[in-house]
Amino acid sequence: MITDGHNHTKHFSADAGQSIEELILEATGKGSSRIGITEHYEIDYPDDGLNWKFDINEYYETFKNWRKVAGSSIELLMGIEFGYQSHVSEEIDRLASQIPFDVVLLSVHLFRGKDFYVDRECYQIPSKDLHREYIAIMAEMCEKCNNFDVAAHYDYINRYTDNKSDFVTYDECPEEFDRLFEALISKGKALEINTKSVFKHKDGGFTRFLPDAAILKRYKDMGGRLITLGSDSHFPGTFGLCFDETIEYLKSLGFTESFYFKGHKAYPESL
Ligand SMILES: [Zn+2]
Ligand SMILES: [Zn+2]
Repeated sequence: MITDGHNHTKHFSADAGQSIEELILEATGKGSSRIGITEHYEIDYPDDGLNWKFDINEYYETFKNWRKVAGSSIELLMGIEFGYQSHVSEEIDRLASQIPFDVVLLSVHLFRGKDFYVDRECYQIPSKDLHREYIAIMAEMCEKCNNFDVAAHYDYINRYTDNKSDFVTYDECPEEFDRLFEALISKGKALEINTKSVFKHKDGGFTRFLPDAAILKRYKDMGGRLITLGSDSHFPGTFGLCFDETIEYLKSLGFTESFYFKGHKAYPESL
């Protein structure tokens, strides 16, 4: 199966509920020969009683044991998911080079300093303005940071809304998407297709759930070919979620391969 490059475990991600053993077992059972493990790391995150940081050197040491647990049948890619805010870009770049990560994901989980998973205030803003501001932060993240491989879930802004027709599109914010794509393409970084976002929309009865075709077509037209797939799994049963339909959709838009990162190098896999 295509590599699922975005997964969390309860050992290092504050909001995850699966063990490394459960994740390996599930991935093996689903026919995968590789797992991207990308634990949450948030710098200067608002206090919510959870610990969003960990000792990166301890993670490196633990990962060596995980690779022994996994054995030779499945490859574990050592990754991390940094939460971006404007004032933490230098710290991200510094931490990202501390140990030999296979893959570094960058995400925006906060909007004006608040996580919209817990704080719905941002959804009072007209959705077009909200989307434009969010994609502008994504663009800034990819312009300012250098030590990363993948821009994760550009559609996170839609995930926790109650508005079933809320869906980020290219036409709402073409300049912001172009800035984001220009930064990714010029730096050789990848755009993630996040299938947890697909699942959340589908399961929640949204009117649309697969990524906006115009976004992906524009990325492709600008020369973007690096895409990754990630289920963003946090709990058992969600590894590789919605991969089949997402892959069919990507193929219908003319994409023939997706990529995984190992030692920060992109490797293609046929869709
Ligand atoms: Zn995330
Ligand atoms: Zn994640």
